[in-house]
Amino acid sequence: MKIAVLPGDGIGTEIVEQAVRVLKALDLPFEMETALVGGAAYDAHGHPLPEATLKLAKEADAVLFGAVGDWKYDTLDRPLRPEQAILGLRKNLGLFANFRPAICYEQLVGASSLKPELVAGLDILIIRELTGDIYFGQPRGRRVSPDGHFPGAEEAFDTMRYTRPEIERIARVAFEAARKRNKRVTSVDKANVLETFQLWKDVVTEIGKEYPDVELDHMYVDNAAMQLVKAPKKFDVVVTGNMFGDILSDAAAMLTGSIGMLPSASLNSSNQGLYEPSHGSAPDIAGKGVANPLATILSAAMMLRFSLNQAAAADRIEAAVQKVLAQGLRTPDIHSEGTTKVGTREMGDAVLKALG
Ligand code: NAD
Repeated sequence: MKIAVLPGDGIGTEIVEQAVRVLKALDLPFEMETALVGGAAYDAHGHPLPEATLKLAKEADAVLFGAVGDWKYDTLDRPLRPEQAILGLRKNLGLFANFRPAICYEQLVGASSLKPELVAGLDILIIRELTGDIYFGQPRGRRVSPDGHFPGAEEAFDTMRYTRPEIERIARVAFEAARKRNKRVTSVDKANVLETFQLWKDVVTEIGKEYPDVELDHMYVDNAAMQLVKAPKKFDVVVTGNMFGDILSDAAAMLTGSIGMLPSASLNSSNQGLYEPSHGSAPDIAGKGVANPLATILSAAMMLRFSLNQAAAADRIEAAVQKVLAQGLRTPDIHSEGTTKVGTREMGDAVLKALG
């Protein structure tokens, strides 16, 4: 088994270091190889996703990714910006299924923006289609408007589109995931207004018939946004398109209190995956040794479970994280009165110790 380790920029290097220490401590037969990505790769090689990094990622069974980006690259041409590395990896590895669990740990209930009774015990999984929809649909562009409300005015346009196979495969991913959880799927669409999402709804309904043991319901995206903040525990697995998933998964993230706690996985059809925390490179705290490494450590656990077939090791890491939270250790982003404030490395040390 081979893991490509791509720490990236900002706090990426600090948090990935802790996840790598945890992985090494498991004493499992995998090889890890590190490469530059994002702004660090641009500085060294003039491109955010150099050929050698892409080759390593393609050959690996899984990619452990930190984060990329810094304000100093914001003036570069778009194809050279650090964030393009993620898009390039998604595209080249065919990572069409994004898993974003939103789990509210008992010890962190107070950090949520919602009342404790609404989020205590929250455990939902948002599955977002990652390679289609309006973000990739063609045609797109800017032009002089040929018709509409203001003919002759400057306009911009994007195209929302999904093909049947794209919907089928993400629906199957969602139903399979639900089978391993509480056997409920909520498919989120906007079928009342959009043709694309009428097809989405029809296809998800058809695929649902192959999974009679999984309960399926459909929800319009506006209602889903409302329900996520009103009664989030009603959900089990939520499956949706690229744009709706982008927005809903960030809203769900905030239910849990801190973005520093949330892992994510992006998988292709052969279960090769890219695993990364849900947050960015946090330039505001980079280099200070205060970033929360738990989202990255939990991403490593997801990697063991989904791509490396090491569920027992994943359980060990997740239990260790629960243990350090129970011990009252907190990085500043999740710190509250009565708990012990620790830095990035100390948090890594504590997880290592709790692995037993
Ligand atoms: P961000 O997620 O980096 O930071 C948002 C806020 O959350 C900041 O205050 C930051 O300090 C805090 N934060 C984030 N992760 C944390 C952690 N592990 N521990 C403690 N606090 C944490 O988002 P942003 O500030 O909008 O973006 C910063 C850069 O990251 C930009 O260049 C952006 O493009 C990039 N970005 C990259 C990714 C990615 O690599 N996947 C995702 C989002 C943003």
